[in-house]
Amino acid sequence: IRRKSRSVVAFGACAHLGGVPGLANQLGMERVCDVVGADRERAVAAEPGQPKVPGIADRVRTLDQVIPVDHVLPGCPPTPSAFGAALLSLLAPQTGPTEAVFALDIALCDECPRKATRRPDAAIAEIRRIQWTAVRADECLLNQGILCLGPGTRSGCGAACINANMPCTGCFGPTSGARDHGAKLISATAAAIGGDDEDAIRAALSGLTDPVGSFYRYSLPNSLLRGRMA
Ligand code: SF4
Repeated sequence: IRRKSRSVVAFGACAHLGGVPGLANQLGMERVCDVVGADRERAVAAEPGQPKVPGIADRVRTLDQVIPVDHVLPGCPPTPSAFGAALLSLLAPQTGPTEAVFALDIALCDECPRKATRRPDAAIAEIRRIQWTAVRADECLLNQGILCLGPGTRSGCGAACINANMPCTGCFGPTSGARDHGAKLISATAAAIGGDDEDAIRAALSGLTDPVGSFYRYSLPNSLLRGRMA
């Protein structure tokens, strides 16, 4: 693909950051294959007589860890409007450099319809699971103790999840200023946690049952941790 293409676009969170499958890097592929009973070395054919696809790689990688990438269209999935804008940009006569990432380089909170209600000093006493919470539709989700990752995630989705009364889970990845998306999200969340002593902070965090899956849901293969966890 690289040899035949003028421009290669990493399409979506898996190509961009590694995506949800990248959480397998926590265990290593041998362990993952043990758990699901797969044979990592064996090449398999989808149908009898069809070409075989390769065996499972040793770890999940981002596309730019495999080949040089020219552009990124982030999201899980990329939104139709972002896809359309990227396509028009790529097809237009080039008068200068095209965007490296087809999305705004600002945090989601900056375009969120609830941003006026966001309290920087939210002092969350308890992280709550959304399925067990009566969520108010007109107030910042983080204020309500719902883990919303908008403060550390790139905008450009039109706040689609927030408009459905669901928190941002970080699929657009970081803005250009952050080297490690998960670390950025941990930092932003920590700033919103209340409590003056360790017991209160532990109590607030007790609802956070899967820290890696929450903060590195899409970006573990792209993170600074990737080499240590494979
Ligand atoms: Fe919107 Fe979430 Fe940011 Fe609150 S934390 S302003 S709900 S994106």
